[in-house]
Amino acid sequence: MKLSRFTNIVRDTDYLLHNTLSNGLIRVKNENLKQMIDNFSSSGTFQLDPDNDFQQTLYSLNMIVHDNEDELATLHSSYFNFEHNSELSIILIVTRKCNFRCSYCYEEYSNNDMSLEVFNNTINYIISQIEERNFKNVYLSFFGGEPTLMANEINEFMEHLLEKIIIYLLLQISKLLSLLTVIY
Ligand code: SF4
Repeated sequence: MKLSRFTNIVRDTDYLLHNTLSNGLIRVKNENLKQMIDNFSSSGTFQLDPDNDFQQTLYSLNMIVHDNEDELATLHSSYFNFEHNSELSIILIVTRKCNFRCSYCYEEYSNNDMSLEVFNNTINYIISQIEERNFKNVYLSFFGGEPTLMANEINEFMEHLLEKIIIYLLLQISKLLSLLTVIY
């Protein structure tokens, strides 16, 4: 085994490992495990221990890979799929406001709403991307805060968008604890 060429290690009080290809992310606090990571990075290649849970976790997150793993081929393939993907996915944070107060919420409930300019620019962006990249499907998610506080703006946005494009479009609105899904 070897450390993935895409694994970045930030050595601070805890170690943070991030793999830019798989987007795997892990924080390591245990001193023995930190030592193991240091050994991995200095030794080049090493034997995978099938009974070691930590190593298995690193492997499942692509932090470590087999010696003969061709990671550049994986990267090229990911890029090819990205280039030829027929689906455009966009998440719009339409407001930071919310009329609920979940105990686990990380929002600051500021009064920031998405501006008309950003709504309009988003429509232009979607149209330009459909023309340039020939997307067949568009997935739109309205997120917040509480996005239904912007129901009028979202309705107008959708009307303007659908005036300009005819496309299969999946719309999702994160609504309090549930998810309202509308298919156009
Ligand atoms: S509904 Fe969402 S934004 Fe509102 S308080 Fe709960 S977690 Fe926060």
